[in-house]
Amino acid sequence: MSKIKVRVNGRGNAWPVVLGQDHPFYDRQNYQDLANASFSIIKSDVNDPKEKEIEWDLMIDTGHGAVQYLLKNCNRIPEAVFLTHPHIDHTLGLDWIVQSFFKRYKKPYPVYATILCWKFVKSTFPQLNGMIEFKELIPYEKRKVDEVNGVELIPIPVYHGKSAIGASMILFNINDGNNRKKILFTGDILTPLLRKEDYASLVELDLLVVDANNRFPYPKSNHWSISNGPDKQSKYLADFIDQCTIGLLLEPHLKEQASDNYRRCFNYFLNKKILTRDFHFTIESFIKSICPKNVALIHYSGGEDHKYYSEPILTDKQLERWAKDSINTPNTCQFIVPYVSQHMYFVNN
Ligand SMILES: [Zn+2]
Ligand SMILES: [Zn+2]
Repeated sequence: MSKIKVRVNGRGNAWPVVLGQDHPFYDRQNYQDLANASFSIIKSDVNDPKEKEIEWDLMIDTGHGAVQYLLKNCNRIPEAVFLTHPHIDHTLGLDWIVQSFFKRYKKPYPVYATILCWKFVKSTFPQLNGMIEFKELIPYEKRKVDEVNGVELIPIPVYHGKSAIGASMILFNINDGNNRKKILFTGDILTPLLRKEDYASLVELDLLVVDANNRFPYPKSNHWSISNGPDKQSKYLADFIDQCTIGLLLEPHLKEQASDNYRRCFNYFLNKKILTRDFHFTIESFIKSICPKNVALIHYSGGEDHKYYSEPILTDKQLERWAKDSINTPNTCQFIVPYVSQHMYFVNN
């Protein structure tokens, strides 16, 4: 069995269960189901490892409930945190983690993010001033993860609405001799800002952990959907693409607060004739272009499906079945709707 696994610290949408309501997908009585999407790539010999059995833990996003998950299940500080974007449902736990580390080791805690995401996070948590060692993610640029051996990553910018400045998906390449794994976490996303040359790094993913906010498109939510509508031709999406411009998709990245180096990373889109309809606005479209081995659907809401398509909000088992039955993907691709605390072992290997 591989020593590398992805542990689900939380799988939820911004507020998995809105106060005063119930949600068919999330169990209000199960505190673990109240956590936002958060994951750890961990290295361990053991199936469900506890504190000392974990060799290392790289945590991707840390929203509501992620710290409570850590406290209850392994009570161990991750080696580093990686942020996909600055929204609070992906960053809230940073305060607790950073302060824990600083109290224990009296040194700054490593946090990986783009410069724009970092500036936003810094202003959200002024009390952490001096307690964080910022590790910059430069768009499209491969970098080493300093805290462990054999792990590299590539941040690929995404569009997730105007407020998600500096938002990126993060591709991890793990190769420590015995373990070779390629895992992509999309974070929240309406479309990835992929250049032609980026596809080579995305082929043969062992695992794609993907924002599956709704089954059908409602681009105003700033999240993409699993498919393009019950009839495969959503008017909401067609209208959005009609009005969408490259300028709109780049706006959250070309901010004044960004360095010139950061802004330069987007010249590809400014110097070429690129059509917005060539971008991926659904998971189905993205998957077809990269053929991942496993796809974990997370961050599910279903609210827009219900509101704009009169389609039911599903349970986790129903969502998994629906994805398997309705998404046309290469048959080597497996859909998983993971539960919290699940350790995903790359089932096709
Ligand atoms: Zn979110
Ligand atoms: Zn978000």
